[in-house]
Amino acid sequence: MNIIVTGGAGFIGSTFVRRALRQGHKVTNIDKLTYAGSLDNLRDCVNPTPPPQPNYRFFQEDVCDRPAILSILSEAQPEVIVHMAAETHVDRSIECADQFVRTNVLGTQAMLDAALNCSKKSRKPLFLYISTDEVFGSIPGTGRFSEESPYRPNSPYAASKAASDFLVRSYRNTYGLRTITVNASNNYGPYQFPEKLIPLSISNALKKLPIPIYGDGMQVRDWLYVEDHVDALFSLIDKGREGESYCIGADCERNNLDVIRQICGLLSQKLDDEFDYESLITHVKDRLGHDLRYATDSSKLRTHTEWTPTTSFEEGLSKTVDWYIKKSSNNCSTKS
Ligand code: NAD
Repeated sequence: MNIIVTGGAGFIGSTFVRRALRQGHKVTNIDKLTYAGSLDNLRDCVNPTPPPQPNYRFFQEDVCDRPAILSILSEAQPEVIVHMAAETHVDRSIECADQFVRTNVLGTQAMLDAALNCSKKSRKPLFLYISTDEVFGSIPGTGRFSEESPYRPNSPYAASKAASDFLVRSYRNTYGLRTITVNASNNYGPYQFPEKLIPLSISNALKKLPIPIYGDGMQVRDWLYVEDHVDALFSLIDKGREGESYCIGADCERNNLDVIRQICGLLSQKLDDEFDYESLITHVKDRLGHDLRYATDSSKLRTHTEWTPTTSFEEGLSKTVDWYIKKSSNNCSTKS
């Protein structure tokens, strides 16, 4: 397959690119390389220096740059566009929402227009849009979000993703663009920029710095290992129904405090030291408008594609901790 990926130097994007190349697909990666993206994330699958790989190209571009995007797409003639470039950190969106509206809303609109206009063939590319379960807001009790849940975004980040979900839907219904939208739960795994809960906690703990936790830490998330998410994306490219949206989660609800305690336990075990990592846990003032609980029902995805997550939280977290330990020891040896 000939695939365009946006945000392919980020956390989920780099995992997707790595898998796509391993499976022999042709990949064009468009990424602006903001603070959250790095070509280091692709070092193990992409030649850092020429000669170029015949099946991989990288363009450092902003998805809002309409002429550049249309030119890349027109030249690449992709069969599939996986659009995941975005501003993604809720806290940053609370500080200032401008860049979130620009990249997540206007950038998605620019990508949709380019997808509509790039094809020299009558069959338009499939536009697979990666959104979040945060568009549904917080769900109390034991309920779970499904594709039928009402949109109730609570943070500027979630609102910007909700707006682009609607744009994607409208391009399907108005112009007949072939689209699939994915509303995924919280991802974790290697290669994530250390500002979100899991990578920040591991990175700080490794430096013996305080591990901040919002409020009482009882916020519940449905944790999805990034490789399982990428499996789901490939299943959808293969068997997903056009015009549909799919919720993706791993039925793996954990509260933030338990997640951090588990990380601390893994670090003690793996580093075999006496240090009390839990003593680093520091409760800080809760995030404004903090959603208390997310939980996602992925039965539609499972029925349409036979996808099922294969990584337990214990296994995924252990692999993630291993990756950050290795990364930090590599950094130390480079510095010394
Ligand atoms: P990330 O922050 O790790 O990476 C985002 C990537 O997009 C970076 O490489 C960045 O350089 C690039 N980017 C940002 N602005 C850009 C622009 N204007 N033009 C081109 N590139 C730009 O994000 P992630 O966690 O990998 O998330 C990827 C997608 O998945 C996002 O759309 C996000 O909303 C969605 N999502 C993430 C999660 C999660 O838990 N991480 C869960 C559900 C959905």
